[in-house]
Amino acid sequence: MKIKLYFLFRFLIVYFFYPLMQLVSFIFPKRREPWQALFIKLNNTLLFPLIKNLPLNPKILILLPHCLQFDDCVFRITKSIKNCASCGKCVIKDFVDIQDKTKIPVAVATGGTLARKAIREERPDFVVACACERDLATGIYDAYPFMVYGILNKRPNGPCVNTTLDIKEFEAVLEKLS
Ligand code: SF4
Repeated sequence: MKIKLYFLFRFLIVYFFYPLMQLVSFIFPKRREPWQALFIKLNNTLLFPLIKNLPLNPKILILLPHCLQFDDCVFRITKSIKNCASCGKCVIKDFVDIQDKTKIPVAVATGGTLARKAIREERPDFVVACACERDLATGIYDAYPFMVYGILNKRPNGPCVNTTLDIKEFEAVLEKLS
């Protein structure tokens, strides 16, 4: 399929599917998360073919939610992920390793506003972001036309506390970008 068509489909899912999803979610609030997850999946599917359209050595940004950090950790990783002591109690340690290995900057945001600020300031060619369904769907919509690939977090302790993610899924996406 022509690259232009993928751009067109992205435009359509952001400006037509997303508002429709918002409306359906408003009418059936219990179905909100599955709809948001579908929007994220469609977005991701359309982004993969566009990777080959990125410039040589694309500027990539990894964007993480603060809730991935172990709740009792005292280190201020929102300032810099380098402040992590790599104790291994949460996946932030894995991202310190990824940043060291790939030199891809990792930003940890405490909310959607700061996540959007990080994208506006860095102006990356491609963002790999992790968050819950709601934050990812909103973030992908707000950041458009920036390319934001979304990876859902896992919430074994409920929302917003000691969340985690599938690091292999993250690495697989970075592999495609290298
Ligand atoms: S891995 Fe880093 S961020 Fe996570 S608890 Fe340990 S020191 Fe804190």
